[in-house]
Amino acid sequence: MALRPETSSELLIDGKLVPGTGGTFAIINPATEEVIGHAADGTTEDMEAAIGAARTAFDTTTWSRDHAFRAKCLRQLRDALGGHIEELRQITIAEVGAPAFLTSGPQLEGPINDLGYFADLAESYEWETDLGRAKPMGIKTNRTVQREAAGVVGAITPWNFPHQINFAKIGPALAAGCTVVLKPAPDTPWCAALVGKVIAEETDFPPGVINIVTSSDHAVGALLSSDPRVDVVSFTGSTATGKKVMVAAAETLKRVFLELGGKSAYIVLDDADLGAACSMAAFSVVTHAGQGCALTTRMLVPREKYSEAIELVKAGLAGLPAGDPTDPGTICGPVISAVQRERIEGYLKLARDEGGTIEIGGGRPADKDKGYFIEPTLISGLENSARVAQEEIFGPVLVIIPHDGDDDAIAIANDSPYGLSGAVWGTDPDRIKKVVDGVRTGTMGINGGIWYSADVPFGGYKQSGIGREMGVAGFEEYLEIKAVATPA
Ligand code: NAD
Repeated sequence: MALRPETSSELLIDGKLVPGTGGTFAIINPATEEVIGHAADGTTEDMEAAIGAARTAFDTTTWSRDHAFRAKCLRQLRDALGGHIEELRQITIAEVGAPAFLTSGPQLEGPINDLGYFADLAESYEWETDLGRAKPMGIKTNRTVQREAAGVVGAITPWNFPHQINFAKIGPALAAGCTVVLKPAPDTPWCAALVGKVIAEETDFPPGVINIVTSSDHAVGALLSSDPRVDVVSFTGSTATGKKVMVAAAETLKRVFLELGGKSAYIVLDDADLGAACSMAAFSVVTHAGQGCALTTRMLVPREKYSEAIELVKAGLAGLPAGDPTDPGTICGPVISAVQRERIEGYLKLARDEGGTIEIGGGRPADKDKGYFIEPTLISGLENSARVAQEEIFGPVLVIIPHDGDDDAIAIANDSPYGLSGAVWGTDPDRIKKVVDGVRTGTMGINGGIWYSADVPFGGYKQSGIGREMGVAGFEEYLEIKAVATPA
């Protein structure tokens, strides 16, 4: 079976692949600006049907109670997608602009394999805990606590790491026994729709358990926040949209799970290996053209080493130019769209207007007349209060800021509305520990340590989100807790 549709991809609603009632919309390759195909344009009518199917599947089938069957379906999906891996790789590179090297990790293969982790959790999780006997109000009682699926989940996802984020939601939600409606970003509909095709044609997921509605219209996804039939809305995207989701969900008091933006600090202490720290800082900020919420985009270096660090980072960025994502050597591909490129260019202008110095980069690469490319860029000469140091740019742009010691570095790192990720480089374990403990953020990497993996909870403090994705904590986001008492 070929995955790439000849006409348009389809929606998955109630176990059937169906066209969108809104027709189709074009998908553009961000590296070439060519139309690579079309996706089904789901409407509110389609979304209503998908939510209804998910509700019925949750309320009328044994899905939420049959842990072994759910594990089987998730492993089936992992294996079926594995059978299409090379085709999915080509489509992902073309649709997302993801550099090929990332598709053997978080852009494709990693998240598919992670389905196995969630299948294992469905089987091994302690669904019922015996609290033993007690005598509340003088009556001997046996008490248990049981965990149950939270219900219908509305999953809304962005375009930057579509497979990773789609599977980080549908994997644990389905493993927990929920039913799901997935609404991917309009820029990357195929990454989700083609998974829907595999689910419909190659797995035993019962109708309605997983529904996938692609759409060019953000308002279609917004229904998932407001519809009373949805119990949990699981959202990844910008902080501004996350706030709207939370407001819309308040009316029905549904559980809200939010993975939002970041402006993570990369702290270099004065005893660090400066060369290694600067190389890794450059590599991190250009990975997937800086389109990662957890990428470290504020580099804090000791004031006395500021000039030296600037030269080292410039050398690093010079060796990582924006390039063709199909080339296995490319680290920095295009950004997703013309709109996103203009937004980044607006920030580059702002950096100049605010008095910053563009040390390297700062515009479109001269050797590319097609594709939404931005040169890897380093901005110096600004304080942490500058807008380019406070706001998420979501491009290959690093701001370098001097600090006056460990406490000052921690204070600057925390002077941000966000708290998603961070990094520290140094040699003294006590000083490193003080920084790790002091920075209010959901993840920290030490001396280049990478925390990303299926069993590691990921999420944000402050305006970077509410809740955790991945790991046992991510699985438990999709569970309710019921206490049961029996006279002993
Ligand atoms: P976005 O907020 O514009 O859109 C995200 C999704 O929300 C899309 O599917 C979009 O169609 C949908 N949407 C838009 N308006 C909506 C509304 N009112 N109600 C419901 N859904 C709505 O974000 P984006 O531009 O697609 O992605 C980039 C952002 O995502 C960045 O801010 C980035 O930091 C963030 N992000 C966060 C994480 C994380 O885990 N913390 C991961 C990846 C991306």
